[in-house]
Amino acid sequence: MDAAKIRQCEEKLLRRKDQIRAVLARIEKETRELTEERALDWLDQARDVSEVRLRDHLSEGYLDELEHIQMAFRRILAGGYGFCTACHEPIEARRLELFPATEFCSGCQATREALARAR
Ligand SMILES: [Zn+2]
Repeated sequence: MDAAKIRQCEEKLLRRKDQIRAVLARIEKETRELTEERALDWLDQARDVSEVRLRDHLSEGYLDELEHIQMAFRRILAGGYGFCTACHEPIEARRLELFPATEFCSGCQATREALARAR
């Protein structure tokens, strides 16, 4: 992968990281507001509990993505970015464009998904 391409992916990753940070901050703020409101009847409270859980679940997904982005930055620094961490072949350019944080080529990704489904 040439340096310009890597630089493009890095910029995409940085933008996505900022986006996720902003969303997480908003989720955290809204969750805090929800749990801080005390003058609620039991029905409202029950609804709020499930909403807080939903928000936790949402945050988890974003945190997971953030972790993948951090790992991609580490691969950029280490010089292994753009290569599949499973088979060490170059990852398809189109795939990196769509998923700059990906660590697998589409073949290895498909294999892993099939294995996960078979479990
Ligand atoms: Zn692979």
